[in-house]
Amino acid sequence: MTGEVHQNHRPSEACIADARRILEETFGYKTFRGQQQTIIETVIGGEDALVLMPTGGGKSLCYQIPALVRSGTGIVVSPLIALMHDQVDALEQAGVRAAYLNSSLGRDEQSAIEAELCAGGLDIVYIAPERLVQERTLNLLSRCKISLFAIDEAHCVSQWGHDFRPEYRQLRILADRFPTVPRIALTATADPRSREEIATELRLQNAPRFVSSFDRPNIRYTIAETGNVGARERLWQFIDTEHKADSGIVYCLSRKATEETAAWLTGRGRRALAYHAGLPPETRRSVQNRFLHEDDLIIVATIAFGMGIDKPDVRFVAHLNLPKSIEAYYQETGRAGRDGEAANAWMAYGLQDLVQQSQWIAQSDGSEEFKQFQRRRLDSLIALCESASCRRRILLAYFGEDRKEDCGNCDNCIAPPETSDGTVLAQKALSAVYRTDQRFGVTYVIDVLRGKADKRIKDNGHDRLSVFGIGHDIDQQAWRRLFRQLVATGYLIPDTDGYGTLQLTAAARPVLRGEVKVQIRHNKSSGRSKSSQSDQNRAPVHNLSGQDQQLFEALKALRKELAAKAKVPPYVICHDRTLAELAATRPDTPEALTRINGLGARKVASYGAALLSVIAQFTTTPALNNRLSPTVNRSFALHLEGYDVEAIAAQRGIEPNTVYGHLAAAIEAGLIEARDVLSIDEAEIEDILAAFETADTLETGRLGPAHAALNGRYDYGILLCLLAELN
Ligand code: ADP
Ligand code: ZN
Repeated sequence: MTGEVHQNHRPSEACIADARRILEETFGYKTFRGQQQTIIETVIGGEDALVLMPTGGGKSLCYQIPALVRSGTGIVVSPLIALMHDQVDALEQAGVRAAYLNSSLGRDEQSAIEAELCAGGLDIVYIAPERLVQERTLNLLSRCKISLFAIDEAHCVSQWGHDFRPEYRQLRILADRFPTVPRIALTATADPRSREEIATELRLQNAPRFVSSFDRPNIRYTIAETGNVGARERLWQFIDTEHKADSGIVYCLSRKATEETAAWLTGRGRRALAYHAGLPPETRRSVQNRFLHEDDLIIVATIAFGMGIDKPDVRFVAHLNLPKSIEAYYQETGRAGRDGEAANAWMAYGLQDLVQQSQWIAQSDGSEEFKQFQRRRLDSLIALCESASCRRRILLAYFGEDRKEDCGNCDNCIAPPETSDGTVLAQKALSAVYRTDQRFGVTYVIDVLRGKADKRIKDNGHDRLSVFGIGHDIDQQAWRRLFRQLVATGYLIPDTDGYGTLQLTAAARPVLRGEVKVQIRHNKSSGRSKSSQSDQNRAPVHNLSGQDQQLFEALKALRKELAAKAKVPPYVICHDRTLAELAATRPDTPEALTRINGLGARKVASYGAALLSVIAQFTTTPALNNRLSPTVNRSFALHLEGYDVEAIAAQRGIEPNTVYGHLAAAIEAGLIEARDVLSIDEAEIEDILAAFETADTLETGRLGPAHAALNGRYDYGILLCLLAELN
């Protein structure tokens, strides 16, 4: 019915080998990721494909490699001019002949590119959809040899999505006009309804579908409550402990809030800019541009910011308010960590957010059915926020993926919240709402509970209620938290009339009658000790030792220079991960450089010499050129830098005895002596050696008997180091 008449066949071994060679030489990667290889083989073989892969999954290679393997030019449809520009820059850096055709070009530039395209001088051309479907362009393409059509951001055909682009619907014409050219559509949209629409609208009903998990394992989800310090202060604690010099996005609800928050962050010494739809276009462009080119800038934005900004090294996305829905949350947080490195999705929300969103829904113009739909969406989001279990499992379940295990990389997995019986408190709260006739907002009800005898309360006679002052021993914030949970769990609803009054639901009665118990979650991560604990748990972006970290910083500075010279964003030169690998492995020849992930032949030719010269300036301690494992060497390097065992253990977040074990390995390899490591005197050493002798430690290799003979005076680690020296 769609009239596909491709000659489908499995690609020849030669083509498959070609694909692998291009992966390594051009893109500098060692292996395909996930389903890339199958997808690439399918398209090389001339078949269509529908690819559903999360952001950062590696969609681009799925069409770029087939475009290079098949003869002719690959045409890529992409909705955003800024993205095309970036992709073409990146391809040129890798030595691919790429160009784009869009409205940003002058007439002459455009003709030159078209001429080159017809002459077969381009491997990949990006085209805006509205231009592609023009008769003139279709004619032009029918005179060229086309290797494939790739339709990127294919969810733009979906009317239900937030990025609907009418021109995308006209792309169905490609099936008729180019029946023998394979078409591959790609999207990161998880929503099943959009998938069906893409297949139908683009006439890919019969195309094989490649659906990847939508999990983003490198993103750590944290949902905090606003708490008594306020959302902004919480945000600062988060940024300052986890992202001292990283770039990220902070989402706010209002334009005013973006400006105030950006100014506030600036006041605290961070570079931060506001972005919202009310700014003049030049300002918006310049903010976007700076975001791409600078690697420590924070953008404080309304949700208008993000779509079409394909910066791979966004290290965090923070929400200062509840987002609109789980879909929106997942899409916005998905902008973090596209490069696959550790990234944070952080949110703070409070009771006010719940009240406000409920009010918006109540006051919106939609039909009752639409409002119901909105309320259900809000309920799912609140359930995610209030849950005490793994956030990732809840998120993925929402998108229809059933994950069997907890992720270990969300706040609830890392520091499971405590819950306790809060029935009595809940009863007090609910009866205060009831006694004040369900006519007041949360602040007033809490004042009554806390026994604040102000004029309004006295005038209403509420200082004479039995509930007046029954909660004086609990602070205002704790009450707010409880009320938020009571709203979130459905015992109370914020009014539907727009005044923020709280009303009881049917579920509240059994609680008041003592028939149902209420569990409450406790505030976690408040106070210093807890936050430093989360700091320890934090996955470092790159696990580099002191020496390597310095080299990494130097390489980053070099990359900045190279990028400025080439007039491209730094990540187009190479990603952080590539720099980290360079720092950790210190290649010293161009040949060795090509073995680094992300450095293809062209990049080595362009930048190899500069990279090698920086690496050469950072000669390591020769002792570290050894055959010990990387983890041993990290402890060993810190030892050589003068840290003692306790300090090394603290810095690496491991046990002191593990550090002793590492250093024992270095001692055994003859790189240092036990006396360098141990802070014990000669008499004590004699003491231990004597115990070794009586316990036959050298023969048996077992430390237990000697440890016992010494009455446990010395840690096992110390004994281990001495034994290592004797071996
Ligand atoms: P998407 O378009 O799906 O969001 P990209 O195509 O931009 O993702 O790829 C995301 C990141 O993963 C990029 O930095 C890319 O260079 C990297 N990448 C893609 N495929 C591989 C691979 N096979 N090995 C290593 N890195 C890869
Ligand atoms: Zn988890």
